[in-house]
Amino acid sequence: MTANIETPRDLDSFNPAMVGGVGLFRTEFAYMERSGFPTLEEQRSVYKEIVDHFEGKPVVFRTLDVGNDKRLRYFDMPPEQNPALGWRGIRMSLEWQDLFLIQIQAIVAAHDEGEVRILLPMLTVVEELREAKALMEKALGSDAQRVLVGAMIEVPAAAMALKDIAQEADFVSVGTNDLTQYLFAVDRDNTRVSSLYQPYHPANLRVLRFIAKTCRQFDCPVSVCGEMAGQRAGALFLAGSGYQALSMGVGFVPEIKALLAQTTLKDLVALSRQAAGCRTREEAVSLLREAAAAAWEGVLANS
Ligand code: PEP
Ligand code: MG
Repeated sequence: MTANIETPRDLDSFNPAMVGGVGLFRTEFAYMERSGFPTLEEQRSVYKEIVDHFEGKPVVFRTLDVGNDKRLRYFDMPPEQNPALGWRGIRMSLEWQDLFLIQIQAIVAAHDEGEVRILLPMLTVVEELREAKALMEKALGSDAQRVLVGAMIEVPAAAMALKDIAQEADFVSVGTNDLTQYLFAVDRDNTRVSSLYQPYHPANLRVLRFIAKTCRQFDCPVSVCGEMAGQRAGALFLAGSGYQALSMGVGFVPEIKALLAQTTLKDLVALSRQAAGCRTREEAVSLLREAAAAAWEGVLANS
């Protein structure tokens, strides 16, 4: 189990011994809280604070994912008709290579203190992964070998091309928040259509099982860092689907740890298969909810 972190402030009351490291550091907050793009040194000092706190445990830094819902007040993004489908994440990094490379250098510079990994958001095709890795090699030389580079799977096309991506990425992390949005063609922040945003619909559950299975086939470590990982029903389903690590907001860690301790892998594997075989969201949700309630009874009985 690993933690999702947005700023060093998230660490104020968090004991790093609770987790195996950081599965998602959302670096955009280091950009949002300033009045201009942070320098290499400013970034390095934020990243190093996180790496130091976790004392040698791996820390996954997601490269800048602004655009759509995440804006920088000092940077007027060009207006777009469909920003969620537009210029964001790795698309922006590959076009604004200076910005990308300063960030990569800052992350690698935090490396002396512990293990760092780089996660590329909004990857759509394997060519983007290749291009990012080539840029890193050009800018960092042999230092590029010191970091693992992972693919964030949030776009359905990337999920369907996973057999190619998993062979070239060092690890995969699934962003279920965006994956659900793009799979259901529903804006995750639009209340008008929010009833169709259904992470527990069997259509989504089947995609999540497919991703875990494909990564296993190609020996590519796979985890989930979207909100589902920190939800009781989601954690049970994902653990049973073959995800090797779940990354969640630090507030969810104790509860999900206690919950999973009440289960067996064999039962979770069966639960995952059954949930994905349901026809409707309601059926899958009631199945998973029942399993979560039973496991939670065990937590309460032992506390
Ligand atoms: C996700 O999309 O699941 C994710 C973890 O990224 P964010 O919520 O920051 O877009
Ligand atoms: Mg996302």
